[in-house]
Amino acid sequence: AKRALQGKAVLFNAALEQEMANSSQVDKALRRCDYDSEFQLHFQPQFDLVKGRIIGFEALARWNSPELGAVTPDIFIPAAERAGLIRPLTQVLLGKALTAMASWPDEITLAFNLSTHDLMSPHAVESALATVRNSGIEPSRIEFEITETAMMSDFNQARRAIDQISEAGHRVSLDDFGIGYSSLQYLQLLPVSKLKIDHSFVRNILEDTAAFKIVRTLLSLSRTLGLGCVVEGVETEAQMHILRTMGARHIQGYLIGAPMPAASIPSALNQTYDF
Ligand code: C2E
Ligand code: CA
Ligand code: CA
Ligand code: CA
Repeated sequence: AKRALQGKAVLFNAALEQEMANSSQVDKALRRCDYDSEFQLHFQPQFDLVKGRIIGFEALARWNSPELGAVTPDIFIPAAERAGLIRPLTQVLLGKALTAMASWPDEITLAFNLSTHDLMSPHAVESALATVRNSGIEPSRIEFEITETAMMSDFNQARRAIDQISEAGHRVSLDDFGIGYSSLQYLQLLPVSKLKIDHSFVRNILEDTAAFKIVRTLLSLSRTLGLGCVVEGVETEAQMHILRTMGARHIQGYLIGAPMPAASIPSALNQTYDF
């Protein structure tokens, strides 16, 4: 057992070193990159089980770096935050999302991720809201996803930002709900209108009674509080069926569709789903 543990420690160190080497490369590449040409958005469908159709898309950023190749958002978003580059990146991405949306049917909504750093800056929030205003797109069609890390770092500023966003006519959803330090108090104190149940609970929903009970409880909590709820990471029909029996209405995940380029959206909207 000791041997195995030592082996693990070595592996861990190697992985950590690799990651640190990569992260300084990522930081460098980010500093000199051209956001507009290197970053794209993919859009993942959000599905309404009652209506039996796609009701909106979440925008997810993709970076194709000429130097590094494809870099995932779990790497480049934190890197952009560290480098103080997230605000201009958010602005470019929001612009791209609004451009894509211009050709969507009116009833299709957009979910757009804001970084905690965006939320912590009144100026960044104001520019995002102004960008939407100038696009002429109805604010009620755009919801902003935030995580509880914002509340953790400065609750009062987070609250001001959320108030400002909702006063502009947008909905705000609390992303990755149930993991990290999400607190029920936030739900009481902040005008959020939706919870997104993290995919880590859904993964084991069929095998693990605890995961099952947690999801059921979160769904019931959202109903009790009059909040909308999106269950993330739904990959199989079996998961979808069990979620439906628990009263879940909105789902997102590979079962409906992986994040796709804007050009694939019309055919995704034309597809029929028989569940
Ligand atoms: P998130 O907001 O929780 O987004 C959901 C993630 O789950 C996405 O990863 C998505 O591709 C992935 N996913 C979707 N369906 C499934 C499924 O059925 N099973 C599993 N296992 N995973 C699924 P992605 O695109 O790699 O993004 C990772 C995270 O990076 C996002 O997590 C979000 O926190 C952040 N992110 C992505 N784009 C942006 C952005 O434009 N701005 C900001 N601030 N953050 C972003
Ligand atoms: Ca999200
Ligand atoms: Ca999420
Ligand atoms: Ca996440």
